[in-house]
Amino acid sequence: MPDVFADLVGQDEAVDTLRRAAASAAALLRAAHESDADDPDGPADGADPGAGMTHAWIFTGPPGSGRSVAARAFAAALQCVHGAGCGECPGCHTTMAGTHADVRLVVPEGLSIGVSEMRALVLRAASTPSGGRWQIVIVEDADRLTEAAGNALLKAVEEPPPRTVFLLCAPSTHPDDVSVTIRSRCRVVPLRQPPAGAVAEVLVRRDGIAPDVAHWAAAAAQGHVGRARRLARDPEARQRRDAVLAVPRRLTGVGTALDAASALIEAAEAEAEASVAEADAAERAALQTALGAGGTGRGAAGAMRGAAGQLKDLEKRQKSRATRAQRDALDRALVDLAGFYRDALTMALRAPVAPVHTDTAAMAEAGAQKWAAEGALRRLEAVLECRTAIEANVKPRIAVEAMMLALWKG
Ligand SMILES: [Zn+2]
Repeated sequence: MPDVFADLVGQDEAVDTLRRAAASAAALLRAAHESDADDPDGPADGADPGAGMTHAWIFTGPPGSGRSVAARAFAAALQCVHGAGCGECPGCHTTMAGTHADVRLVVPEGLSIGVSEMRALVLRAASTPSGGRWQIVIVEDADRLTEAAGNALLKAVEEPPPRTVFLLCAPSTHPDDVSVTIRSRCRVVPLRQPPAGAVAEVLVRRDGIAPDVAHWAAAAAQGHVGRARRLARDPEARQRRDAVLAVPRRLTGVGTALDAASALIEAAEAEAEASVAEADAAERAALQTALGAGGTGRGAAGAMRGAAGQLKDLEKRQKSRATRAQRDALDRALVDLAGFYRDALTMALRAPVAPVHTDTAAMAEAGAQKWAAEGALRRLEAVLECRTAIEANVKPRIAVEAMMLALWKG
């Protein structure tokens, strides 16, 4: 039985750090337990906090490197009754399944995490762990906290309750992602982009995917583990990728460039809509059930006003989630496209590296001949500039149209 760190692909150094911290955390608990007899409130004498455990952590790394996988695995190791993340005990098992009573996971669905949500979380995290070990708060995408929510979190991180551990995930420790004050109170665990070979290995071992498919998907996903698995398993994800990679050869003029921009935007919208539709409908139905349908008599009018407000709140949250899903889908398409021009560039330079997209290698080679290194580089930069512009809130259609024209003209 693999332990809780088994799915953290190609991150030996980080896993080593986390294993040592979990062992030191277990030692702290044992020491506290032993001193309970004579001094119930006494500190955990004998355990050295400098040995690796601390109350706040930030997991950084590029998308798909496994930031949230690392945070969850570490939480499981902290809740493991054997103190090591065995993967088999109830502590490990419930944490990995997301049902442990002392582990709270914040997954921002919209563009940011609200202040009220964060305050409620921080409050509950201050209570005594029901399992007798740690209260753990995992914040996925801590870079999407609002300023107010960040401040609520900072207060808790600055004055942590004795048994509370905060695990934050963010792309980097740049001040745009995590405030300097939060950063200064956390230990940072940097994750790297896992090598394609390691990603392929986990797809074969864990997901039972055929080795040749696993190797193709791992390379095409450029180190993004979740994306590699989707490409290997989901025919629709493969079709969408094929459509994106067909773009370069369709760019023959202004008209086709603008058409390609529309197609890319609409495909991202459709993909996003499909990904949130089910959750939207389920939430709406749940809210309507909770509010009760109709109603007459005294109080009903007031209740209806309240209901309208709640429905409006829900619609707002759903709209924000849909926007995020659209941006994520578009970004995936841009990463695929960037991979193609990167292949053309490395081929023009005769660099001894394997192509990202083995299935469009011939087309990339033709591009390399036609554009030379300079032209391939300019096109790669156009794709990367488009990503940056969208991240900076430029309207996606405008950014993508500008990119397509640049890709056509070179
Ligand atoms: Zn365990």
